[in-house]
Amino acid sequence: MSIETFYRDSWVEIRLDAIKENMKQLQKTLDDKTGIYAVVKANAYGHGDVQVAQAALESGAYGLAVSLLDEALILREAGVEAPILVMGWVRPEDAPVAVKYNITLTAFQTEWVESVKNQSYEGALSLHLKWDSGMGRIGVRTKEELHELLLSCQDEKIQIDGIFTHFATADELDLSYFHKQQERFEILLEEFNRHWNEDVEIHTGNSAASMRFPEKMHHVVRFGISMYGLYPSTDVKALEPIPLQPAFSLHSKLIHVKKLPKGESISYGATYTTSSEEWIGTVPLGYADGWIRKLQGMEVLVEGKRMPIVGRICMDQFMVRLDQPYPVGTKVTLIGKQMDQEITIDEIADYLDTINYEIPCMISYRVPRIYVKDKNIIEVDNSLSVED
Ligand SMILES: *Cc1c(COP(=O)(O)O)cnc(C)c1O
Repeated sequence: MSIETFYRDSWVEIRLDAIKENMKQLQKTLDDKTGIYAVVKANAYGHGDVQVAQAALESGAYGLAVSLLDEALILREAGVEAPILVMGWVRPEDAPVAVKYNITLTAFQTEWVESVKNQSYEGALSLHLKWDSGMGRIGVRTKEELHELLLSCQDEKIQIDGIFTHFATADELDLSYFHKQQERFEILLEEFNRHWNEDVEIHTGNSAASMRFPEKMHHVVRFGISMYGLYPSTDVKALEPIPLQPAFSLHSKLIHVKKLPKGESISYGATYTTSSEEWIGTVPLGYADGWIRKLQGMEVLVEGKRMPIVGRICMDQFMVRLDQPYPVGTKVTLIGKQMDQEITIDEIADYLDTINYEIPCMISYRVPRIYVKDKNIIEVDNSLSVED
């Protein structure tokens, strides 16, 4: 834990209590024997990988799941000792690194396993086998492929610790494709059990499946988006299988406020012109921070009131139309609550015609992350810090 200094007026606030509460809510619905992999890929969906991993583990997460070996190594470097699963493809020649740091990799190609066996390392590489039951991304699809893969895995340098699949439509109301994937997984599972006697971890569920069908989950679930307090889709949000609290909020401050007469233009391209005498505020956050140009027209909160972004968003700044003058230093909330008003990640995703997953991932390394626990700031992480 460290409090790093930063010298700008924009920041992300992460409420670790929300992460813990969301974990608790899922645990309540799951069987006692079902563990949780906290999915912290992509810097924990922009929330901060090490901090979220620690909060999730403190709340009883069984392990962590990431996409890249690099992401797994960051966690080990930070002292995380829990099981870590890399769910994406890793180059076979990098397997010795995974062995050295006790990281589990994902396998689904026989040639890949053969290539791993040719690498030089001590001990065995831990693997989860991936089955493609209908996502069409990575995984074995047929019994024949599975047989071949298992034959190749019968080697002292390989240790199969788990098998899993991933659902493509678990967040939709129509469950026919979800059921088809489940059936296909069960068929391969039977086949696996016929050929393999050792116990392995079985997992299928992402946030949507684990919240909607907790009784159908096997040994572990992979809890991503909803650990952060966001529902995987508007359909699942309407069902509200468990209550969630968003952990992420984004804030800045007014750094300049001025009165403009009617007919004055704002920002590049002069796309906005005042239609009367207007108060215009400048906010020090822009597209290099992830507040992309398509957010022109979106609102922000000032003193609990909504104010529109006017003119083009610049690389480092944008302007808002204010209803009255406010002092320099007044807090501006781009994501989160002010008094009884709230701008949610879902609202921004909707405005951008995308999914909520993309929004926190988009807020760049330039914006420091402040970690709050029991209303106290316990850590500040500033990627721009030179005081390391
Ligand atoms: C990202 C990911 C998850 C987490 O999905 P959420 O919808 O965020 O819960 C689970 N499994 C795999 C394979 C993933 O890539």
